[in-house]
Amino acid sequence: MKESHTFLVPDYFSHFSCKMGDCRHACCVGWPVSISMDNYFHLLGVDCTPDLRRRLDCAMYPLESPTPEAYARINHRYDGECAARLPDGRCAIQAELGEDYLADVCRLYPRGVRVEDGGAAVRCECSCAGSCEAVLEMLLRHPEPIAFVEYPMTLHMPHIPEREVQFETLGRAQAIRLFLIRTMQNRALSLPARLAHLGQTLYMIDWVLHTRDGAALDAILAGSVALPALPEGKLTQSQLADGLRIAEAMIAAFDAQSDSIREQGEAALAYFGKGEAALARYHAANDAFAARFPDWAIWFEHMLVNHMFFAQFPFQDRPESIGDELVGLCAVYALLRFLALGTQPADEAALVDIAAACFRLIEHTDFDRTATHMLKRIGCTRPEQLWDLISL
Ligand code: SF4
Repeated sequence: MKESHTFLVPDYFSHFSCKMGDCRHACCVGWPVSISMDNYFHLLGVDCTPDLRRRLDCAMYPLESPTPEAYARINHRYDGECAARLPDGRCAIQAELGEDYLADVCRLYPRGVRVEDGGAAVRCECSCAGSCEAVLEMLLRHPEPIAFVEYPMTLHMPHIPEREVQFETLGRAQAIRLFLIRTMQNRALSLPARLAHLGQTLYMIDWVLHTRDGAALDAILAGSVALPALPEGKLTQSQLADGLRIAEAMIAAFDAQSDSIREQGEAALAYFGKGEAALARYHAANDAFAARFPDWAIWFEHMLVNHMFFAQFPFQDRPESIGDELVGLCAVYALLRFLALGTQPADEAALVDIAAACFRLIEHTDFDRTATHMLKRIGCTRPEQLWDLISL
């Protein structure tokens, strides 16, 4: 049954439209897409033409260790395509039966529906994953900071699992998240400085949440608490070298674990190489990137803000401290930046493809958590080292 709600959405949301057959990396091609138990049995029994039935029989298979949310998976053909995809790029289920018959994941993607504790009321949110190239292309053409607006929608709500990790939020989870997003949108500061400010703010918020001091939290959210001064001046050669070493170790580790960024990771590692020459190549890549994409910082701001809202940063459903969530966000920024510099994209389409590959890893795996532990393992344990990494 469809439900009507007013959702909080990013301002670009109503302009999203799928590129269909024009998409360079369609979301149903090559990804391990999971389907819920309800959706699987619904599609198994749906009344349809023999052609669609043949496609459906080939398009899904039940998992060995199913859960109600992830019961079956899309079965890709030899060429990586979903068996339900028509030669013109459209989905055969949607073409024959209509959108309402799609599995939730296919019907909603790249939209992510969330339900947020807003104090007395429960608030619905919806935003788009950065793994969809159409979303990233919209963000490229969005000069102003992303605003969040109320948007009425009527839709089949997906099953939203109960949260496993409960955070103390004093009923202000959404207000805290939007305040942190505004910190990331402070264009008076560089992106690394904004991340540092975000860290300082998070530690203050963490403390007042632990002490359940609502008045102190309100003062922080009103912007009336001064933040400590930020590090000044350019990074030294040895700081740059340290940041580069950590970024390379991080990329090498993810490259070994995930197909999503293997191609881009290997290209970046090959470009930077090792030793003194790596620093010279970093500076050359940095200059060339800034000249080719003069508004890159605005686009990176949007990608981080979009990710923060989509992932409900810093109240993500995992047993990590708020400080560790910040490390995960720094890893997101470092990964995007390092791959964007190291692969030297020739045009906007190539840049979008790199970022979409990153977000396939970031938003559809346990990236932030893995990255936090990985950075500790590779020796990035002090705040100064994190600063070196995000200053690249
Ligand atoms: S990745 Fe985005 S634009 Fe491409 S097919 Fe999927 S929803 Fe459409």
